[in-house]
Amino acid sequence: MVEKLYVTYNDVHKLCQQAAPQILADFKPQLMIAIGGGGYVPARILRSFLKQPGSPNIPIQAIGLSLYEQLPDAADRAVEAPGTKVTRTQWLDLTALGEMANLVGRRVLIVDEVDDTRTTLEYAVKELQKDVEEARAKMGSDLKTEFAIFVLHNKDKTKKGVLPADIMDGRYLAAQTVGDEWICYPWEAMDIDEHDSNSAAAKAKKGL
Ligand code: 5GP
Repeated sequence: MVEKLYVTYNDVHKLCQQAAPQILADFKPQLMIAIGGGGYVPARILRSFLKQPGSPNIPIQAIGLSLYEQLPDAADRAVEAPGTKVTRTQWLDLTALGEMANLVGRRVLIVDEVDDTRTTLEYAVKELQKDVEEARAKMGSDLKTEFAIFVLHNKDKTKKGVLPADIMDGRYLAAQTVGDEWICYPWEAMDIDEHDSNSAAAKAKKGL
């Protein structure tokens, strides 16, 4: 049986709170890009803890990505390994100059809930870098955009996706590293009281 890790809203809140000082010390993001749907709630909570007195809130943009399995059809028998293709369900609107200016030359924190196989994060970084480079060239700017990553959980396992060395070397932060178990997030729960009691029972068992 696959082990399940029940994470409550308070757990998520506290993981964001604990990570914020390090994010502020090491990176000071000027913009967050939340990968939907799991990155939305952590990004919003993080924003409160990253807020500096006298400065405006850090803006949050959203992108929607989903890993899917390409099924064989009659015309094409090629079979993809499960969960290796990423599709965009929502993307940045880089058509408006204001939005381009928001990205070019900025420190951008990409936020997601979990780094599992790393396929999604690899895709997000590559595609964002490509789009930002295009926007930069159009603007005729020589400013550099820096990306960092924050996830609530990183699963300690062999990864399929690869992230740039400059991100892995000091600009990648996981609030918690866990084993290769299934994490149940509160926003997916159909019965939040049951979810919370499963979490409490597991914590009690571990003596937490
Ligand atoms: P990846 O394998 O690309 O790192 O993760 C892809 C996506 O699969 C994640 O963004 C997340 O939505 C989903 N996922 C992977 N592992 C888990 C997990 O343990 N729990 C939940 N709820 N979603 C997961």
